[in-house]
Amino acid sequence: MSPLTCPGCSVLAGFWNAHVHFTEPVWLGAATAPAPKLRGALTEMLLQYGFVHVLDTGSDLDNTVVLRSRIAKGELPGPDILTAGFPFAPPGGTPFYIKPLKLPELVSPAAARDSVLRRLARGADFIKVFAASPVSIGRVVEMPPAILQTVTAAAHAKGRWVAAHPTTNAGADLAIAAGVDLLLHTTPDGGKPWDVAFVKRMIAARVAVAPTLMLWRWELERAHRPAAVVDGFLAIARQQAAAFSRAGGDLVFGTDVGYVAVHDPSDEYRLLTDAGIGFDAVLASLTTIPARRFSGGRSTGRLEPGADADIVLVAGRPDRDPTAFTRVETVWKRGLIVYHRGAPN
Ligand SMILES: [Zn+2]
Repeated sequence: MSPLTCPGCSVLAGFWNAHVHFTEPVWLGAATAPAPKLRGALTEMLLQYGFVHVLDTGSDLDNTVVLRSRIAKGELPGPDILTAGFPFAPPGGTPFYIKPLKLPELVSPAAARDSVLRRLARGADFIKVFAASPVSIGRVVEMPPAILQTVTAAAHAKGRWVAAHPTTNAGADLAIAAGVDLLLHTTPDGGKPWDVAFVKRMIAARVAVAPTLMLWRWELERAHRPAAVVDGFLAIARQQAAAFSRAGGDLVFGTDVGYVAVHDPSDEYRLLTDAGIGFDAVLASLTTIPARRFSGGRSTGRLEPGADADIVLVAGRPDRDPTAFTRVETVWKRGLIVYHRGAPN
């Protein structure tokens, strides 16, 4: 069957996942790992769900740069990768959940500027910081504002942008005030919804948000928290994503896959829909919005003459059933098929 024969299918622009991690053991040694192994892993984690562009928001930079380059050279079918390397933490601020790993800490504005410039020179595409970091259950360390402002100023001066892990509403506030470009999560940790004034401030600051709703469910369920706690936490996260989206904020799709062991993004689509975020906004979060913000001027994220032929063919109607977003038949990146369901890896 020709891949173009697909009755009842829908044709969409190639998807972005704006929050992934190349940290699972399969990515180790990307320079020498056999192509079929990496190809299988790229297909399993990303291509089979239509992701042809990803933001890697925390991994070993040197390793991910090699993976990025093997894909860019056409040696492996895979998404275009934009990577930050490992995130920067506040002084004494490595998050508890990644210990015993210790993140690079930014101890002063001068050190922060140096660290950002060195990171970009080593091949990072953007910078990730913890605006506030949970160092133990119930204790959060915030990044000093002067350091955070130096990070964004140094990155912006190089034409690059900054993503922040906010943790709490206060962390999100710090990030917004410092000119951060992307919040990598909603902030249900604080237990407070995002009110109208806060959402207005976010939009005025031109910050984008990746809600990562499925992360919250996955994290709490694996910690065996009671269903009522999970539901309450998710209700706050859904309110935050919906309030931001409804007010016209730039929502971008992101699942935290790689940290989250579940690779299938179906739950994110379900939770966004449960939040009242409609098909148009979900599709924009997968395509036009991240393309406008992160593609560096490439013409992608839309199906139109002259644009990159980044295309996802899905079975069914995602405008009627959001889980159809995951029923991917065929994926093209710049006109080449990088995934076809049922084809050997
Ligand atoms: Zn993450």
